[in-house]
Amino acid sequence: MKRLEDLRGVGPKRLETLAKNGITSLKTLLAVLPVGYVDALNPSPIGQLTQEAHCVEGVVLESPRRHFYSGKSVVRTRLGDGSGAISLSWFNQPWMATQLNKGDSLLIYGKVGYYQGQPAMINPKKIQQRGIEPVYRAMPGLPGKTFSSLVRQALDSTTEEEAETLPAWFCERWQLCGKRFAWEQAHFPTSQPLLSEAKRRLAFENLLLYQTALLSVGQRGRAGLPFKSQEEALNRYWEALPFAPTEGQRAALQDVFDDLNSGYAMGRLLQGDVGSGKTAVAFGAAWLAACSGYQCALMAPTEILARQHTASAAKLLAPLGVTAGLLTGSLGIRERREALGRIEDGSWQLVIGTQALISQGVRFKNLGLVITDEQHRFGVRQRQTLAEKPGDGAQAHMLALSATPIPRSLALVLYGDLEVSLIQEKPPGRLPVKTRIVPEGKRDDLFDYILASAKRGEQCFYVCPLVEEDEEQSAKSVKETYQYLKKGPLKALRVGIVYGQQEDAQKAQAISLFSAGELDVLVASSVIEVGVDVPGATLMVIEDAERFGLAQLHQLRGRVGRGKKESWCFLLGQPNDRLEVMTQSDDGFFIAQKDLEQRGPGQFFGTLQHGRDLPDAFGVGDIRLLEETTRCLKSLVQDPEKKAFLRDLTLLSREVFGHVFASGRH
Ligand code: ADP
Ligand code: MG
Repeated sequence: MKRLEDLRGVGPKRLETLAKNGITSLKTLLAVLPVGYVDALNPSPIGQLTQEAHCVEGVVLESPRRHFYSGKSVVRTRLGDGSGAISLSWFNQPWMATQLNKGDSLLIYGKVGYYQGQPAMINPKKIQQRGIEPVYRAMPGLPGKTFSSLVRQALDSTTEEEAETLPAWFCERWQLCGKRFAWEQAHFPTSQPLLSEAKRRLAFENLLLYQTALLSVGQRGRAGLPFKSQEEALNRYWEALPFAPTEGQRAALQDVFDDLNSGYAMGRLLQGDVGSGKTAVAFGAAWLAACSGYQCALMAPTEILARQHTASAAKLLAPLGVTAGLLTGSLGIRERREALGRIEDGSWQLVIGTQALISQGVRFKNLGLVITDEQHRFGVRQRQTLAEKPGDGAQAHMLALSATPIPRSLALVLYGDLEVSLIQEKPPGRLPVKTRIVPEGKRDDLFDYILASAKRGEQCFYVCPLVEEDEEQSAKSVKETYQYLKKGPLKALRVGIVYGQQEDAQKAQAISLFSAGELDVLVASSVIEVGVDVPGATLMVIEDAERFGLAQLHQLRGRVGRGKKESWCFLLGQPNDRLEVMTQSDDGFFIAQKDLEQRGPGQFFGTLQHGRDLPDAFGVGDIRLLEETTRCLKSLVQDPEKKAFLRDLTLLSREVFGHVFASGRH
């Protein structure tokens, strides 16, 4: 196989540019896959366009007209294909007016938008050659033509054997085409069916390797610290709680109990919708650790949440004699030193904190259990780093809590290394949160409602999407909204503010005032999205609701409906199919499924921290494929004859995804 520098047009400077884009060999060059294709072989019917980039073909319906629009020339016409019509505009390309005639047939490519309810394209590109053109992500210093020429040369100098990563029997068993052929079609497609085969091959390999890497860093099959919990301890815990556990909570803690006593390292994911009471299970696990003489670390994604857990621990665990303390990045030097001391000498049995827990210098006396709350905010690396903290290769038990209900097929990829416990019900007496979409014209009614509720002593979260004014969009900043509400419509009320960039102490103060009922309204950014538990709050207002993902809206809405009173969630924005989903259901799994259907797995994953580690190109587009690779990996693990192959696969997976899973151990 040639080297990069052997290719025509690659000198020292280009070599550097390539390296900057992560390309250091022919293989890494070929592995840069297109992010999309312009398919001029199969134009989309105009009547079925979605708001994405499309190729369309049709007849020019009217003679193009030239206008001037704020000093710019605009050429406008319409294109029809029997299924519908779309309006086309070219800015600053006056010659288009003479190039096009009514009745001409035209093949173009562009992003579809909507203008006054009608589909429209601005500056569409005329397509000369009928084919499928790859589109690559922008790479500075590497124009598309140059890149294509390098890929062409690389392919021409690579044989099938050199390219292949999987054995023939395996490709046959899972119906995968050869790797060289896949690369050829991915970069220079000749037809949709062949391109699909290529994508399948590359995506299958990608996902399989990702899942293999995940499995190899995970806890499965590793020896665990010996806990010696007694059933009695479990019972004592439930008796000491101020409420009776739900069936789901009881069963989940029983799973944990069994894991801890199994001799293997626990790797368990606790999934339950917002408000299902995962904290009580987590504290139960911490209690079991304490009973066996081990420390427990509980890592939360935000300082607010960590502080809240510390307060809950004082209520739920202190009566049982468990000592707990807080370690976050905002502690002063003296406080931090003191905290580190208590962690190291073991006088804190439960250590609650943020990512500061995995920072250097944190040494536990005998860490036995690691809990990560709102796991979707962390990466695999972070949770695993903490689990490896005990040193000497010992592995702490691990429990991950997640309120983002992930459809099963996706969970198999994200959490392939974990066993799952599910809490399906909510604590008794909860009323579903009623959800309404509030269009712009009804804002005043909304303010009246907030005022009336405040009179009854009910509290309101008022969520704004962005902190600073976004230039392009008209999103309200938290600060502006706060000023506006406080001086305007809600001036009769006690209004507070909390957002991400605030000093931690200010954040903590706002939340604690609100929790104590000393504020009626808390204007907030999405920092309150996870975990915040204020049972007195019954109203959730979300500005610019369209800007949030459905899963995120569901999380936000989960901040209310925690007490016995009826709660409401108001989504400000224009009614549309996406927001309607929120009004139809209060069930996180239903909503996640819809979110997935509407946005596709790629975007769905993008909103999860964990998902960002996933391979981008061709990887997560197809749920059936995810299920297939999961089945494939399972069959390999279970077959003793495939041990050697699985080992090879693991080595390869480390090569490809090593950067994602590299342990943060110092
Ligand atoms: P989440 O699963 O979203 O983390 P929390 O653990 O914060 O939920 O619990 C939500 C609220 O429900 C808390 O106020 C908690 O005290 C309360 N809670 C939890 N379990 C029960 C139960 N079995 N009965 C009554 N209230 C409960
Ligand atoms: Mg929680």
